[in-house]
Amino acid sequence: MKSWSDIIFETGEFGSPDFLDVSPALHASSNYFFRNVEEMRLCLQNEQAQPFYTRGINPTTRILCEKLAALEGKEKAIAFASGSAAIAAAVMHTVKNGDHAVCVEHPYSWTNVLLGNYLKKFGVACTFVDGREVKNFESAVQRNTKLIFLESPNSFYFDMQDLEEVSKFAKSRNIKTILDNSYASPLNQRGHDFGIDIIVHSATKYIAGHSDAVGGILCCSNEDYEEIFKNEFMTLGGIMSPWNAWLMLRSLRTLPVRMEKISQNTIEIVKYLENHSGVAKVLYPFAGEYDQKNLAQKYLKNAGGLFTLQLKTGDLKKVEEFCNSLTRFKLACSWGSYESLIFPACVSYQGKSKPQEHLNMIRFAIGLEDHTGLIDDLDSALKKIN
Ligand SMILES: *Cc1c(COP(=O)(O)O)cnc(C)c1O
Repeated sequence: MKSWSDIIFETGEFGSPDFLDVSPALHASSNYFFRNVEEMRLCLQNEQAQPFYTRGINPTTRILCEKLAALEGKEKAIAFASGSAAIAAAVMHTVKNGDHAVCVEHPYSWTNVLLGNYLKKFGVACTFVDGREVKNFESAVQRNTKLIFLESPNSFYFDMQDLEEVSKFAKSRNIKTILDNSYASPLNQRGHDFGIDIIVHSATKYIAGHSDAVGGILCCSNEDYEEIFKNEFMTLGGIMSPWNAWLMLRSLRTLPVRMEKISQNTIEIVKYLENHSGVAKVLYPFAGEYDQKNLAQKYLKNAGGLFTLQLKTGDLKKVEEFCNSLTRFKLACSWGSYESLIFPACVSYQGKSKPQEHLNMIRFAIGLEDHTGLIDDLDSALKKIN
């Protein structure tokens, strides 16, 4: 069996007959020419496997896909322009007019729009359930349910689903499962080992890891690949550019060390926050108080770098003062990169409609910095408001 280092440093590479690139080449070409009609005809018949036109297969992007499929234990992977494009393709592959989907509560915001709103116009309905209990999926399923969409752990509340039990149930009803695995990365959780059919990633996050490229990855079986390739991929056309695929190949080389460092940093920071009197709660799969520890232990090989801090104060002015006082955490959306970020829940509320329970929640994304500096920064910001 291939280890992660075989996959990350070798799989899919060394394809050039002329010389062997140590770093994979960037093939920018949009199309490929043929020496004669027969060669061109054969290639067109096999467009899902060979470079013919870059909206289909591109040699650089193909290396990235081979690596990610292997890391997730799937036969195939497809690269998209964004995580949302990968999610939309996976979802649209599994449902058609008249079908029903079940999705975990509070999924990524645009997954919520897709399943809760957009797909209505194509006659697809969706029920959102608290995914912490398998029985909630069982009771939400209808005669026409074709999809169960999972996000485990969730990237704001960090709720998890029992992947093995949910996929067992789904298989017994002929329902496909999709898992958004962006939080764990392919290194820390493998849905395939627990029966999940399709794995999707926002590659913008840990896979790219440098806040300089947007992309998405979908991993699946050969059978699903054949369908998704010619329908949602080639037809809707939301492909990853070869340049971004090349950047992601470069990033993938350091994914294991980045994940290791992020994990160490985050555990130290969470430990500090959990013991601070100004903190009400830290939502994190490896926090002392996490209420689904058995699932975290079963599914996650290592801790990720996202958590949500709930301050003790419910005073919006103080929450804002805390956020504004931090100097080593940037206020920004997204996550998964080398730099530490915060996303306060209160930025999503305008005017009067402020759900009270949220006002003091701040989502943190921990990067690769020295964790002692980050803790000092948190310490002085907490002092200011307490
Ligand atoms: C960011 C994100 C997405 C969407 O990915 P994009 O690359 O921004 O389109 C999907 N799921 C989760 C959990 C995310 O954090």
